[in-house]
Amino acid sequence: MRALIFDRPGEIRVADLPSPKPGPGEAVVDVRAASVCASDLRVYRGEKYALPGVVPGHEFAGQVSALGEGVDDLALGDCVAVYPIIACGGCGFCRRGLRNRCTSRRTLGYDANGGLAERVLLPATLVAQGHAVKLADMPSDAAWGRAALTEPTACVLNSLESCRFRAGASVAVLGAGPMGLLHVALARAMGAGPIVVAEPVASRRAMAAELGATAVCSGEPDELRAVVDDATGGDGCDIVIVSVGLDGLTETALQVAAKQSSVNLFAGFPPESSATIDVNDLHYREVSLTGTQNATPDQFRRTAALLPALSDVDRIVSHRFPLSQADQSYTSRSDPAVLKTAVYPDG
Ligand SMILES: [Zn+2]
Ligand SMILES: [Zn+2]
Repeated sequence: MRALIFDRPGEIRVADLPSPKPGPGEAVVDVRAASVCASDLRVYRGEKYALPGVVPGHEFAGQVSALGEGVDDLALGDCVAVYPIIACGGCGFCRRGLRNRCTSRRTLGYDANGGLAERVLLPATLVAQGHAVKLADMPSDAAWGRAALTEPTACVLNSLESCRFRAGASVAVLGAGPMGLLHVALARAMGAGPIVVAEPVASRRAMAAELGATAVCSGEPDELRAVVDDATGGDGCDIVIVSVGLDGLTETALQVAAKQSSVNLFAGFPPESSATIDVNDLHYREVSLTGTQNATPDQFRRTAALLPALSDVDRIVSHRFPLSQADQSYTSRSDPAVLKTAVYPDG
């Protein structure tokens, strides 16, 4: 089968690999769509670790094509979105349902072969934990593309829920890359009040407005403060999402955060990044500064249930590639006109 291989930072290639055969408890999924994450690009740039030689891809959906002995809760032909985390099941975090924080977590696409391939082997632990989440029949390409976005959308649900999202809340999203735009689409669908988006690229601002942002600006701090004041009567936003890892943005986010608000560092930052924070500002204004990464299995399952109603999400995949050009799903992302990229192994 064909697959994308990550050899080392800066080096990826499409190659032929033996097709996986499931052992006891394992399952094989024929990938229908797999999207590329900013964190895959960070691995490519050498900012984040992945096993050399691994097949990347932790955002994918497909159909079960082979089952090992003893797998009872999946059937051949099942359409699934895969929660890509292989958790131990026994550590304190796993016991609380926070398998994304498992102390010995492994992840498809980083530590084991992932979805940028014709087929993926799902390890027995992942299958036993119910991490292949069944979807209703997925007849169309568009539906498969959206199903591949279950994982990133679940990460956004985790982000908003960690910020104690409530209907009518005012939200600021700093950075309208694919994940910032997913925040806009999900916050809008969940009943947000005003949504302010800060983004220097005009085409991304326009997309944010189409997805439900009520005000957009370039992200220059004075302008952003004025736009947020205007949208919130001077209060600041209840939720501020930092969706691009830029120096100085944490400080800017805190400046537009309301009393009793939450500021979430959703983006990863370059190594050694830091911020200077007025700690009394957090204390006296009761601002929560938090970070989120990944999602819990519960959030993933709820996202899979919600996605059929989120047709706007389809617009965030701007470019699709066949597996033979899977490397371009990485290299094309340096163009700001390109949002999320996805690979469709069937072409
Ligand atoms: Zn991701
Ligand atoms: Zn664990």
